[in-house]
Amino acid sequence: MTIERVPTRLTGATSHGHLLDLIRTTGGMTRQQLLASTGMSRATLYERLEALLRRNLIYEAESMEATGGRRSRKIRFEDRGRVVLAIALGQTHATVTVSDINGRQLRSRTVQHRINAPAPAVLQPLIRIGTELLGTGTGETLTGIGVSVPAPVDAGTGHVAHATTIPEWEPDAVLTSVSSQWQVPIVVENDARAGALGECTTDSETTVYVKVATGIGCGIVVDGTILRGSHGAAGDIGHIHVATDGPLCRCGRRGCLATFSSGSSLIDRLSSQGLTSLDEIARAAEQGHPDVKAQLLSAADVLGGALAATVTTVNPNRLVLGGRIGTIPYFAEHVRSRVLQDVVERIAEGLVVIAGATGDHAAIDGLTQLVTRKVFAPDAIDTLIIDYALN
Ligand SMILES: [Zn+2]
Repeated sequence: MTIERVPTRLTGATSHGHLLDLIRTTGGMTRQQLLASTGMSRATLYERLEALLRRNLIYEAESMEATGGRRSRKIRFEDRGRVVLAIALGQTHATVTVSDINGRQLRSRTVQHRINAPAPAVLQPLIRIGTELLGTGTGETLTGIGVSVPAPVDAGTGHVAHATTIPEWEPDAVLTSVSSQWQVPIVVENDARAGALGECTTDSETTVYVKVATGIGCGIVVDGTILRGSHGAAGDIGHIHVATDGPLCRCGRRGCLATFSSGSSLIDRLSSQGLTSLDEIARAAEQGHPDVKAQLLSAADVLGGALAATVTTVNPNRLVLGGRIGTIPYFAEHVRSRVLQDVVERIAEGLVVIAGATGDHAAIDGLTQLVTRKVFAPDAIDTLIIDYALN
């Protein structure tokens, strides 16, 4: 799919921030190309480029294309050495990763933990790991930090809200802990939403991402933007009511989707067979354990039925299954066939249903993108330039 970003940006490319955005999203342009595409006067353009150069946000690179017998220098976004620290928290493990700002993951470590412990006991070890991972890089600048949690997050404040998974945490526990260690921009996001963004393959697609791990989370990206809903609860599908007299859910009601299809519900039903973790269930599925396969089939069937409604409402290009259970091929395949069986042809047409990246790759990738978007947003750059000029 072609992303037609350049033409839509041209008329807005008047401020320093918009100019940088144009340079960053196009991969670099010559001064002539910038003049032609923005319609700015030479004097204004050069003044803005000078300000961006002084702030170390752009650099001039020799272009390989010679024009009219002489080489023209391309103005590029200064991404060299800039890194993002991402901390993806799951209910039973966490991954800490240093990536460059184009999303290439450089150094990473995954550790086991229990998210229902007090916030300092969960967060301080991860902050130590982050410090160690950052310490091993040379010539790097920390651009910002992204943290994902398996709980609803208020995107405006970065506060963790109404979490049944981590009820003891103060809403600002993540922000407070991380900002006391690093004075850089911080993004806190729900894990499935970060994962949804990370699984998008273009800037303009519509993706539904469902993380099936200990719990069930869902992130929806419409035309490249995370769908949040009127008060941030969009995609909280784990508590869709799917059976009148089903098992009791952690939310206090009966028959929620999570009680049929989450990893913790599978553990409840398989622990009598000695399977007490998601890894053990995944390994047993690979080995063809018949009871495990039967439970996964039934969990996938219920989930697929619920997702058929979601998919019909949103009409995505891609439905991606993530998390330790969601990425089991047997499980993902059965979710896929149930969804495709339950939706009309117009919705199924062109819909790709697949298992996504394993581990926390999607969430890490999404967090890195969110940090980059925040730090290099046109408004943020304009403010930075003004502050720089005043000081
Ligand atoms: Zn529930």
